[in-house]
Amino acid sequence: MYSLLGSTTQEGCATIAEYEGETLRKRIISLLKESSRPLTAREIGDLLGLDPREEKRVYEEIMHAAKSLARQTNLRIYMVPPRCAKCGYTFTDLKKAKKPSRCPKCKSERILPPAFYIDEA
Ligand SMILES: [Zn+2]
Repeated sequence: MYSLLGSTTQEGCATIAEYEGETLRKRIISLLKESSRPLTAREIGDLLGLDPREEKRVYEEIMHAAKSLARQTNLRIYMVPPRCAKCGYTFTDLKKAKKPSRCPKCKSERILPPAFYIDEA
């Protein structure tokens, strides 16, 4: 068994990783399409049975999903921007999908995460 894995291991792993990424991306897209309200990365992760520590990966996949949707369809992924729970500051100028760690205005770390939805361009 072990020896069979020998020379092809590296290539095989790369393929599997890409395949998984592709599938996760498609599942995120279907979830957002089916949802009647915007979903946070945590909610998406929960729905897909991912470990909460994989939240960062969900954000990355959302970015990739947004790019491929924009390339291939007239659908776009929109982000309801994160907001400070204390002072209401809204992070409207984010280039990437993520949850900022602290508010630039009041320094609070209670940030309401961004949520995502799919709609036509
Ligand atoms: Zn604040």
